[in-house]
Amino acid sequence: MAMLALAMMIGLAGAMGYRYSYDNALARQGERGQVQLRLYGQALSSELARYDYVPSLLSLDDKIATLLAHPNDPARVEAANQYLAAVNARAGTRVVFVLDARGHVLATSNWQRPDSYLGEDLSFRPYFSDAADGQLGRFYGVGTTRSEPGYYLSAPLGDRHKPSGVAVVKVGLEPLENRWQGADTQMLLTDENGVVILASDPSLKLGALKPLAPELRERLQHNLQYNRAALPQLELTPVRKLSDSDALVRLRSGPPMLAQNAELVGTDWHLTLLTNTSQARVAALSTAALAGVLTAFLLLLAAAWNVRRRIASERMAARAALEAANGELERKVAERTADLSAANQHLQAEIAERIRAEATLRQAQDGLLQAGKLAAVGQMSTGIAHELNQPLAALRTLSGNTQKFLERGDNATAQANLGTIIGLVERMGRITGALKSFARKPGNGGTAGRLAPLDDAVDNALFLLDTRLQAVRPALVREIEPDLMVACDPNRLEQVLVNLIGNALDALAGNPEPRLELHTHLAGGKLRLTIRDNGPGLSEEAFARLFEPFFTTKPAGQGLGLGLTLSAGILDEVGGSLEASNHPDGGACFTLVLPPARLDPESRHGN
Ligand code: ADP
Repeated sequence: MAMLALAMMIGLAGAMGYRYSYDNALARQGERGQVQLRLYGQALSSELARYDYVPSLLSLDDKIATLLAHPNDPARVEAANQYLAAVNARAGTRVVFVLDARGHVLATSNWQRPDSYLGEDLSFRPYFSDAADGQLGRFYGVGTTRSEPGYYLSAPLGDRHKPSGVAVVKVGLEPLENRWQGADTQMLLTDENGVVILASDPSLKLGALKPLAPELRERLQHNLQYNRAALPQLELTPVRKLSDSDALVRLRSGPPMLAQNAELVGTDWHLTLLTNTSQARVAALSTAALAGVLTAFLLLLAAAWNVRRRIASERMAARAALEAANGELERKVAERTADLSAANQHLQAEIAERIRAEATLRQAQDGLLQAGKLAAVGQMSTGIAHELNQPLAALRTLSGNTQKFLERGDNATAQANLGTIIGLVERMGRITGALKSFARKPGNGGTAGRLAPLDDAVDNALFLLDTRLQAVRPALVREIEPDLMVACDPNRLEQVLVNLIGNALDALAGNPEPRLELHTHLAGGKLRLTIRDNGPGLSEEAFARLFEPFFTTKPAGQGLGLGLTLSAGILDEVGGSLEASNHPDGGACFTLVLPPARLDPESRHGN
């Protein structure tokens, strides 16, 4: 669509350039033509004027006057003929002749020629009637005898008001015609009837420039002005009128020609100059091409400018968009930063909260541990009471007996009894000491970094559970490697062992052949202590919920369901773990995985 518009604009510019240049060139050509027309007109007028005097001259001569007075005198006719031939030769005209008042030829310069006019009646010729009316006659016509075209000039002879005869001279205009031969131009001379009487192109001669009216044709037939010539209508079609005198025409469908008209002064005749316009057209074409190219160039320039402007505006828009995006980005970054710092603050608050919660949890855990321990102590309390009551009863009996032995003077027996009493007291002290140590809360210094000798911890646990061991009486296998140190607080390790061995003893209650095995072995850089019993083993439900706090299968008052949970927690805290399984040969099997530590004899005195 745009291409079509561009093509149309270029075409329009070309057409305008063509028209402008063509009209300009035609105007210049017209100016040159007018000059030429003027020159030709002047040449023609002066040529015709050259013969104006001839007819009038004849009226002055005696020979002509006497001939008119005695037209039938052969000597006078002879003399007149001689005279007319001499004048004709001198003036360079075609024929000179004299008519009487009726229009009959009395004498002629061509009297000797066989086709001479002598005696001919030429009264029908207009040059005769004009002169007979006392005027000068001018007439272009074609001769009736030899069909020779010529310009006839006539003048009355004698009295102007009643002429006695008419003098006529016929002039050939061909020499003028010959001067008109030009490459690019055609000159036409048309007479009062619009008939071409002279033409640079002979084929145009005796053609009619404008349509001849029927009455005119009739008159011409009568006066034989063109001697029965056909007088065809010339195919001169107008193309465009340029001014009053100038127009573009086409001759016989040839290329357009510039036609210029000028009146021949003093006559009814017209000179028409036809000039070729091919040069003007060539100039117009090149101007049109130039205008087209120039327009195309200007359009291209405009298009380029437009593209440039669009690119610039697009670039500006892109920059603006970029700046906006940048601003948006900065705003988002600021927003995100604010969000992040808010989140960070929130996180820090949460961390602080977690730390607080952990501390609370630890406290709760410590509380739980303590509760677990106290539960174990409670469990043990009956046994311990029994343990202490026995020596107390023995002490009472022994001390009464000792008193009696001292009264009897049996010092030896009394001393032996006192030795036994001291032993019993020491044993009781050991029991209470162990209990105190077990029930004690770990100190504020924490438990981290402390070491426990494994065999001591096992011994202490077994000692604490002595009463219950006595009750169950299991076959005890104790395969503990000596001098193994564990990176764990001794008090806590003992608590774990009391829990696990206590559970085993519970499982063995009522067993006809109870058996308790304690083994150690090192594997994968870890120290493993297995406590195995030959009780009923772990039920499926117990297996699934073993480390759940407060899960117990024991009757109320006997179990809290905290033992395994706490034990696993303690081991986890020192980097170890607790594994439970059922032995293929029956019974439960608990394995403590412990972080070992190098044996350091000094640390044995740590608790
Ligand atoms: P409690 O001893 O107070 O019940 P624990 O956490 O120590 O709490 O034990 C939870 C449960 O695990 C026990 O009630 C018992 O059912 C089971 N259990 C623990 N050890 C053994 C074992 N050696 N043999 C069989 N069952 C056991």
